[in-house]
Amino acid sequence: MISFIGAGPGDPELLTIKGKKLIDGADVIVYAGSLVNPAVLKDAKPTAEIYNSATMNLDEVIDVMSKAEKEGKKVVRVHTGDPAVYGAHREQMDRLDKLGITYEVIPGVSSVFASAAALKKEFTLPSVSQTVILTRMEGRTPMPPGEKLEDLAKHHATMAIFLSIGFLDKMTEQLIKGGYTLDTPVAVVYKASWPDQKIIIGTLKDIEKKVKDAGITKTALTLVGDFLGDEYELSKLYDPEFTTEFRQGKVKN
Ligand code: SAH
Repeated sequence: MISFIGAGPGDPELLTIKGKKLIDGADVIVYAGSLVNPAVLKDAKPTAEIYNSATMNLDEVIDVMSKAEKEGKKVVRVHTGDPAVYGAHREQMDRLDKLGITYEVIPGVSSVFASAAALKKEFTLPSVSQTVILTRMEGRTPMPPGEKLEDLAKHHATMAIFLSIGFLDKMTEQLIKGGYTLDTPVAVVYKASWPDQKIIIGTLKDIEKKVKDAGITKTALTLVGDFLGDEYELSKLYDPEFTTEFRQGKVKN
């Protein structure tokens, strides 16, 4: 069985114990070298064959994995963050299905959550936003109808925009067109959880310049919304007067 593993956002200690055990025991490792921190492979077996998928196409990846699997070797496929977000692992799984090769998926810490942790913010604040939209700008991959940034902006939800730091000018333009005000807070997190992590805080008005000045051109997530501000209502979960399944609320007097 082939194991797809979410390697986490960068810090090797953010790899799951399950993922680490599988990597450390693997005979063949195919990892997404453009973003996966090679440090997550540091305890791999000295005999392990290691392939960087950044220089391989889909056929080549499937070839390496299926041959090794047929030879009885343990194969792991290591993706950045969690593979379910822009991981392109679905097309690999479908090919393995056709070849009759079984697989499992071990989730990882997505950069979206590592970024929230770096910012020390909560995406879902009562009365501010209870919805998180994970999206991207249209690039070579077209956006399906209704999913243009401008359309999504209408919800005023918390937005995490992947793969788009190179188009920050268009991004802010579309968000404003969609109804966000110029003073909406924006955070750009570059290489969340890596030693050279950077956080840029601004508004839709000034973020582009700030990010440019910081020299950030890739590996960054843009987070938009009033969850970055300081106004919200306290949760019901810890409200002293609110009774939950586990706790009796105090009666107001
Ligand atoms: N599966 C990954 C996302 C892959 S798409 C995940 O769950 O995180 C690649 C995009 O993810 C990058 O363009 C960037 O927007 C974001 N990204 C990946 N690692 C990052 C990190 N450590 N810090 C900030 N953004 C990151």
